[in-house]
Amino acid sequence: MKVTKKFTLPESEIPTQWYNIVADMPNKPQPLLHPGTRKPIKAEDMEGLFAKELAKQEFSTERWHEIPEDVRTLYKIYRPSPLVRASGLEKALNTPAKIYFKNESVSPVGSHKLNTAIAQCYYNAEQGITHLTTETGAGQWGSAMAVAARHFKVGLDVFMVKNSYNTKPYRKIVMRTYGANVHAVPSPDTEYGRAVLAKDPTCLGSLGMAISEAVEMAVHSDNARYTLGSVLNHVLLHQTVIGLEAEKQMEMTGDYPDKVIACFGGGSNFSGISFPFLRHNFLDGKKTRFMAAEPAACPKLSCGKFEYDFGDTEGLTPLIPMYTLGHDFQPAQIHAAGLRYHGGGQIVSQLKKDGLIESYPIDQRETFAAGITFAQSEGIIPAPESTHAIALVIREALKDKAEGRDETILFNLSGHGLLDMAAYEQYMDGKL
Ligand SMILES: *Cc1c(COP(=O)(O)O)cnc(C)c1O
Repeated sequence: MKVTKKFTLPESEIPTQWYNIVADMPNKPQPLLHPGTRKPIKAEDMEGLFAKELAKQEFSTERWHEIPEDVRTLYKIYRPSPLVRASGLEKALNTPAKIYFKNESVSPVGSHKLNTAIAQCYYNAEQGITHLTTETGAGQWGSAMAVAARHFKVGLDVFMVKNSYNTKPYRKIVMRTYGANVHAVPSPDTEYGRAVLAKDPTCLGSLGMAISEAVEMAVHSDNARYTLGSVLNHVLLHQTVIGLEAEKQMEMTGDYPDKVIACFGGGSNFSGISFPFLRHNFLDGKKTRFMAAEPAACPKLSCGKFEYDFGDTEGLTPLIPMYTLGHDFQPAQIHAAGLRYHGGGQIVSQLKKDGLIESYPIDQRETFAAGITFAQSEGIIPAPESTHAIALVIREALKDKAEGRDETILFNLSGHGLLDMAAYEQYMDGKL
């Protein structure tokens, strides 16, 4: 039988609205708390840090949010992204499972992060904000912000975890090429960074520290705001373009996913592909399973505690009710730097607590092996983060083979790994 490989949509099918799952959750997330008073905070309390419209979206319970026309226009550069039948991978595994992936690696910066970077820069620029700050782990979020900030003509300072700054120099150059200022965290450019360096001059940084520095600079600069690439509700909202497109594309295939799989850092690509399908579990009695692939070195959903915790290391952010390994948790320097975040965010954590999604920790040697299997069978070298999703897909597809089940698996290819080749080399040389 001939298998159709690629399912593409015309530009006119780019969604016109983002989907907010809060509207349909059986138990709503618990409120964010003010770190000082421990009272629930409101959108207005966040407007000093985030653009007004983003603060509003953060607290929204509306089911649908209009995507501004300027944002849709920029989405056309790379959206709708293709849905691909992974027939090569199916063959390599000799599995009866049908495997599909949504290819978010086709964005100009090679990951799904641009979906929200464009939206965040748009709302800030529209409000007249002239300067933005942010943090970045491996550099994918910083690169996406650099493109979007340049387009909307706002300045950008990116605080990059020093370990990635040193080991992944090309992403730093990508950001500078688009015109962003890049600082290695801990940096001498903020009070917090200087304090960390005074205690430990050799510190290689963490995402939590980078957030602390970026927040400090935004708060102390004129007409500036801070932006975050994952975890927050408005970020997950923007990423639902992935799943909304995938829904239409799955219809074209004639299959419906029994399992939806994505890697999990702060939850944005997992939520982006999952939530539009999860709504059919809530509203139409579908029984799809949603499976997050976490790094064994930072398994917040699988091994963390559900409690109120800070989003950053210093304790500047609101308290978030979430699965967390602790805001001062310092994960090992695994190559999937985008997955080294300590918490699972408000919405995803509530869904996990209610047993509506699942999580699986996976060691990076298994994930790189999966990445190589995928590269050799599908021709795309996946980002180290995305290899976690692929490893879980392979586990499930091999179970299907053992049990003779032809279920449908959909996963999100969150990015390509062409700027992560040093990590692949270490794996192939047996140095992981
Ligand atoms: C940032 C990143 C991730 C992890 O972030 P989520 O918010 O969990 O999606 C995963 N894959 C890639 C390619 C990334 O850049």
